[in-house]
Amino acid sequence: MIPQRSNAGWIEVVTGCMFSGKTEELIRRLNRARYARQSVLVFKPATDTRYATQAIVSHSAAELPCLAVGTADDILRAVGEVRVVGIDEGQFFDLGLVGVCNRLADEGRRVVVAGLDQDFRGEPFEPMPQLMAVAEYVTKTLAVCMCCGGPADRSQRLVPRDARVLLGSAETYEARCRRCWRPEAMAASQGTLPF
Ligand code: ADP
Ligand code: MG
Ligand code: ZN
Repeated sequence: MIPQRSNAGWIEVVTGCMFSGKTEELIRRLNRARYARQSVLVFKPATDTRYATQAIVSHSAAELPCLAVGTADDILRAVGEVRVVGIDEGQFFDLGLVGVCNRLADEGRRVVVAGLDQDFRGEPFEPMPQLMAVAEYVTKTLAVCMCCGGPADRSQRLVPRDARVLLGSAETYEARCRRCWRPEAMAASQGTLPF
């Protein structure tokens, strides 16, 4: 529960591995604000074309209309007077996203950013670590490990590609825990679910 402070803005970060429910949680928070008749606008990077170009969509098919933008500065140009700003796939934005979120919060808005905290090698995925540092609230979401059923905080790439950004879903990545994650293998899971 986020305490409401009149006239003051703030930044909320929702971060974790793939399939951990970041987009679901972003949609849940934004829908609650909409029920309370607050104006809401959602952005995502235009590079994320996985499920839809004009909506953020979760792996469980929850969705919310959004504006797809090329750079973080485009958010400032498009945001108008809205009270609550949602941003999905924060890790695909440039480092300018940190200044943009700070500015929006300084203006008195609520900013909710979802994004991956680590890339497939386990390296911090800029600009999410920087955003976590300046955010008032940080929520780490966990998935269920596809090998052992434990708490998963890593994204296992299933195809042998070195590029940091490789768009994909269940055919390309799966959620794994620290023990089952094999960053060097990039091979399909041989694990079996315990139930
Ligand atoms: P994210 O934005 O973090 O990638 P989403 O919010 O889009 O995640 O999707 C979360 C949904 O993904 C879950 O509610 C569930 O339906 C589905 N899912 C698929 N694989 C897993 C997994 N290994 N652990 C948890 N949820 C999973
Ligand atoms: Mg997502
Ligand atoms: Zn595991």
